[in-house]
Amino acid sequence: MTKKTIPAAESGRAPLRSGTRLVTGGRDTDLYHGFINPPVYRGSTVLYRDVETMRSRDQRYTYGLRGSPTSEALEDALSEMEGAAGTVLPNSGLSAIALSFLTVAQAGGHVLVSDSCYQPTRLFCDQALARYGVETEYYDPLIGAGIGHLLRDNTVGVLVEAPGSQTFEMQDIPAIAAQCNARDVCVIMDNTWATPLYFRPLDHGVDITLMAGTKYIVGHSDAMLGTISANANWWPHLRRMFDIFGIVAGPDDIYMGHRGLRSMHVRLAHHMNAAIEVARWLETRPEVARVIHPALESHPGHAIWKRDFTGASGLFSFELMPGPDEALREMIDHLRFFGIGYSWGGYESLAVPFDCSSYRTATTFAHEGPMVRLHIGLEDPADLMADLEDGLARWRAKGGGVV
Ligand SMILES: *Cc1c(COP(=O)(O)O)cnc(C)c1O
Repeated sequence: MTKKTIPAAESGRAPLRSGTRLVTGGRDTDLYHGFINPPVYRGSTVLYRDVETMRSRDQRYTYGLRGSPTSEALEDALSEMEGAAGTVLPNSGLSAIALSFLTVAQAGGHVLVSDSCYQPTRLFCDQALARYGVETEYYDPLIGAGIGHLLRDNTVGVLVEAPGSQTFEMQDIPAIAAQCNARDVCVIMDNTWATPLYFRPLDHGVDITLMAGTKYIVGHSDAMLGTISANANWWPHLRRMFDIFGIVAGPDDIYMGHRGLRSMHVRLAHHMNAAIEVARWLETRPEVARVIHPALESHPGHAIWKRDFTGASGLFSFELMPGPDEALREMIDHLRFFGIGYSWGGYESLAVPFDCSSYRTATTFAHEGPMVRLHIGLEDPADLMADLEDGLARWRAKGGGVV
């Protein structure tokens, strides 16, 4: 049967816009008897017609771990979005991080990791990679082309993440990648915040890009999923590691990712606009010392964000004026619409106090008042601002500071 996919680029036509690519990518309705979506293939055993077919090794599906029409549908859609040679789907964002490092690491090697990375990335590097003789060095996320001075003969990979987890530093990805590309050092990016909708890492010199699909791909806080996509150079190495480890997402979770993907551009547009509205409003509040959101002109990395990114998602931080912990707890504990929880990217808003000073090693993050990370969900931003306004009143009532 012929594949009724919509071609990514037809000659003589403009390339598809990202929203269209996201809706059409990886679709093969002939394969599904006309149904729009792929079926969920649950399975371990895959049968062969006869011994000869088994020995020939050219049957398309062979084993539960080795892929199915369900996993291929999402892999193909993501590869199209990323402009990647291929994509694999491990069972969480964290396992995507681990598998990406394992694809490039070797005993005696050295990896460079941004000091503002997702914190569990550090645990993997310090507690797993270290045991296998791979050295991790943390670097200032604002290093830019200066990364060239840290590259050694045994450097095998550089992890970038922009904006940084919790503190939202914007990294100059093209400048870092240019140094690494020239020395054949693999650049790995954690692109969970922007997704390929708002930043396509492989177009900017990144070799391997990963996401916690758990967040905006799934989009409804109801499944865990990782995604890793690679350029043509690194794809065979990534695929081999993925097959060796067998850390794969289950078919139902992959399906939830597939389902979430098709509306991600609509959701992200709301997350973006609502988050910018709330962030700008917070900037006017006397209880707030600063708001850290790359799309605000006040952000030190705003020029880089504007140059490289085409949008922003719903996660940012702010610093309160100095005040007692009781005032912070009183403010956060009684918010109506903001839950207290870590995994963001769903339709619901979240507020989490954080303190990153305990684990950073290459840089210090200076702040005087308490830090709060917000995820702006799909609620009406007017309700969210009213909720935060009440929270800020509780902050003041318990002795929290104002300008
Ligand atoms: C949440 C997150 C991860 C990990 O994803 P899980 O699916 O929860 O394991 C990785 N990177 C970033 C930036 C994240 O925010």
